Amino acid sequence: MSQTVTPYLEMSQAIMEAGGEALKKCYQCGTCSGTCPWTPITHFNIRKLVRYGQLGLDGIEEFMWGCSTCRFCVERCPRGVELIDIVTAIRNVYSGGGMLPQSLRAFVGSLSARGNPWSGDPAARNDWAKGKYPVYTPGMDYLFWTCCTVCYDPRNTRLAKAASEILNLAGVSWGMPSADVNCCGESLRKVGDAELFERLKNKNLDYFKSNEVSRILTVSPHCLATFNNDYGADYDVTHLSELMSQWIKDGKLVPKKDFGGLTVTYHDPCYLGRHSKVYDAPRDILRALPGVTFVEMERNSEESMCCGGGGGGLWTEKAKGERLSDLRIEEAMGTGATVLATACPYCITMFEDSVRTLNVDGQIQIRDVTELLLESLEINIDEPVGDACAI
Ligand code: SF4
Ligand code: SF4
Repeated sequence: MSQTVTPYLEMSQAIMEAGGEALKKCYQCGTCSGTCPWTPITHFNIRKLVRYGQLGLDGIEEFMWGCSTCRFCVERCPRGVELIDIVTAIRNVYSGGGMLPQSLRAFVGSLSARGNPWSGDPAARNDWAKGKYPVYTPGMDYLFWTCCTVCYDPRNTRLAKAASEILNLAGVSWGMPSADVNCCGESLRKVGDAELFERLKNKNLDYFKSNEVSRILTVSPHCLATFNNDYGADYDVTHLSELMSQWIKDGKLVPKKDFGGLTVTYHDPCYLGRHSKVYDAPRDILRALPGVTFVEMERNSEESMCCGGGGGGLWTEKAKGERLSDLRIEEAMGTGATVLATACPYCITMFEDSVRTLNVDGQIQIRDVTELLLESLEINIDEPVGDACAI
């Protein structure tokens, strides 16, 4: 590989100006690449990416799409380098130069033209609800932010319905957004398209303002983290798992169904765990389900492995042997669990894909904690969310 330095020094400056100032703090100790979950299975090396960024080296594009923004390395860097900011800045500078991979072009194109990454008709955003659930109006307790994935991805519309039923049962007043909102833009920002992110964000902020939104509930940890960290507005944002756990403790929700010794393990979504520090609430829900034996995987909580879906990974093809979600399914099955629970629609999509690829359907089920809680409450919705005891 050729490495020319001088013409690229201005690239290093451009990366810092795009938000990657942390480049300057790195002293190349290698802790980040030593802890990154991709290091053992791909050629991606975060320390090298930073080095190439510092020196503006030719060949940086070989590494820049490997990071799934899981935050594992950030938590361990002895210099407190915000590596995700560097990755995002590098992508911003280089994808602006036409280096966006083919697989991400459709994703960005759909966000630009339709405001969602699933090529969904914007007017059909709330079709999943079939008119059964309310749209938010000022004065309601919560705006339930039904993200693009739970609105357009057929598997995850089941999660939207399960969450809606639980909100009804908890007796709070809530509504989903009208169809006139955009994707929160989290993955887009990490892919490096800062300009389009601002456009999507501003339209959503206008919606929040004109509808006097003060409390937002999410089922996607990606929306949670981006509303909290990147929108800069004054409102409370909570992940539904935190409220559900509280409602169980308060006796507002009483799990009834006996799962008969079902063994369940839990995967911490990176954006709920390391990005948002929510570790206990989903576990408390699982422990409250009658007849469930809860087991931990060896890598859990702060040490949890990434599913690979963040940072644009959900829309990027990975070769067999290079998928973190496959490894995670194997870890989950190694505990003896027949259900892998999580609390993120991206994780669900990644894991269900791996279950098919690994041909282990019938041995392990992927469920959101919301779906398991609904099942335990013995609530029927028009479309079954599944039966965890069926395996
Ligand atoms: S852990 Fe921090 S200081 Fe060490 S190489 Fe990585 S970014 Fe640089
Ligand atoms: S954020 Fe996660 S995936 Fe990205 S470089 Fe750090 S450890 Fe690796």
